[in-house]
Amino acid sequence: MTARKVLVVEDERTIADAVAARLRAEGFEVEIAGDGPAAVEAARRTQPDAIVLDVMLPGFDGLEVCRRIQAERAVPVLMLTARDDETDLLIGLAVGADDYLTKPFSMRELSARVHALLRRATRNSAPAAPAASEMLRLGDLEINLAERRVLRAGVEAQLTPTEFDLLVHLAGRPRTVLPRERLLAEVWGWADASGTRTVDSHIKGLRRKLGADLIRTVHGVGYALEVQK
Ligand code: CA
Repeated sequence: MTARKVLVVEDERTIADAVAARLRAEGFEVEIAGDGPAAVEAARRTQPDAIVLDVMLPGFDGLEVCRRIQAERAVPVLMLTARDDETDLLIGLAVGADDYLTKPFSMRELSARVHALLRRATRNSAPAAPAASEMLRLGDLEINLAERRVLRAGVEAQLTPTEFDLLVHLAGRPRTVLPRERLLAEVWGWADASGTRTVDSHIKGLRRKLGADLIRTVHGVGYALEVQK
């Protein structure tokens, strides 16, 4: 198996070098880009398996980089943000980032997130399930598992790969409250409960795209998918 490629986009050289060193030590092939235009060019040229992308960049920012790269080819993106800014996070998820990490972060955490991204990407490209189980219908919600498409009341919603996985998870057990920690472990593949805000952000994305009434919050516990009549 050839080494998997990760593109690291970060203008702060010490951070870029530390991230690259850690990923190389784990057997990844790593390329570094230091600004927006260089990142888009490198993604086109090297076709990475995953991208670690800082939001604050010279040229144009990480959100624009993500938008441009995702428009050409779907690739898992881990966004790095300087502060826990909800707006940045929501825009990041809207332009196709799958996960985010707030600075400062540990290299152990970064590595865990990159591995989880790649695990999900591999799972998503696995052969589709048999035809009988390809459609999931719950009230006015229609999920096509094979084509990874979602319609609500006949209107298609554009979900990111992670939003789709999260929705399928909730839809698999409608009206059941699923704890955030469990969603984090099952959808993201990691058990570190400090990442439960990642779950919250993606739930916000699903509500924005599919309607606020679809998912119920059970405060202090988790979320449940409500089936509409
Ligand atoms: Ca930066």
